[in-house]
Amino acid sequence: MRVDLPVPSSALAVGAHPDDIEFECGGTLAKWGAAGAAIHLLICTDGSKGTWDVDADTDVLIARRQAEQREAARRIHPDAQVHFLGEVDGELANTVELRGRVARVIRETTPDIVLGHDPWRRWRMHPDHRNAGFLTVDAVVAARDPHYHREHMADGLTHHRPRALLLFECEEPDHVERIEQRHVDAKVDALLAHESQFETTMAPRQPRSVSEPNARPAPTGELVVSDSARHSASWTRRRESAGRAKNAVRRFAGPVRLRGRFTTRGCTSRLFDARRSGRP
Ligand SMILES: [Zn+2]
Repeated sequence: MRVDLPVPSSALAVGAHPDDIEFECGGTLAKWGAAGAAIHLLICTDGSKGTWDVDADTDVLIARRQAEQREAARRIHPDAQVHFLGEVDGELANTVELRGRVARVIRETTPDIVLGHDPWRRWRMHPDHRNAGFLTVDAVVAARDPHYHREHMADGLTHHRPRALLLFECEEPDHVERIEQRHVDAKVDALLAHESQFETTMAPRQPRSVSEPNARPAPTGELVVSDSARHSASWTRRRESAGRAKNAVRRFAGPVRLRGRFTTRGCTSRLFDARRSGRP
């Protein structure tokens, strides 16, 4: 297990929906931001499916979720920048056009490290998470080579090769970013900015069929909450009083687990090796 990459000069995290990045790598971004890194978040969809209210005005919801996302990013780091692709929630597709838009953000923000959903995780239900992962990986390839999306060059951009790509939500972690309590606090505070999601994500009406999560005490380690822990946190939080909710979320600030794949030429090969070795 590799531990701690050098602090990047800039990092770009790509998430399918508002709140995904905070759940998966908010502590890491807080750590890097505090150490001087420029922090960028790219949100692929508009979050318009994020309600159980059948009469909800989704335009209002979209605006609210954008505001929540900006506030969450500010809680990770005051200077964090948020970028929105604005695709319809639930309908994200890995198209050449969208890949070009993600590649453009990579070329504009020139991150040392890109983070995104692991698209090869098995049994993944949500298509947006899968497609956001593929978009991220494919856009890293497109951004690094000068003959992809040459229309970007007319705007003064040039190709950019990130130093590393870290994929979260992975089932075979091989990398950990260690974080301190203050970074856990920043992550939890950022998650709590997503108030519109408290019902659907934090307090489901029906308890999820999950068992007690990873009950290990939260170490001062990296924090990416897996789906199972996330759901358990949600279920637990439903039972908590409002005053205890923060501690309930904090309970699941377990070690962050990211799958690292360096984007050097050699690591590109490793990516394909991983697929050949049985990862779906
Ligand atoms: Zn999501």
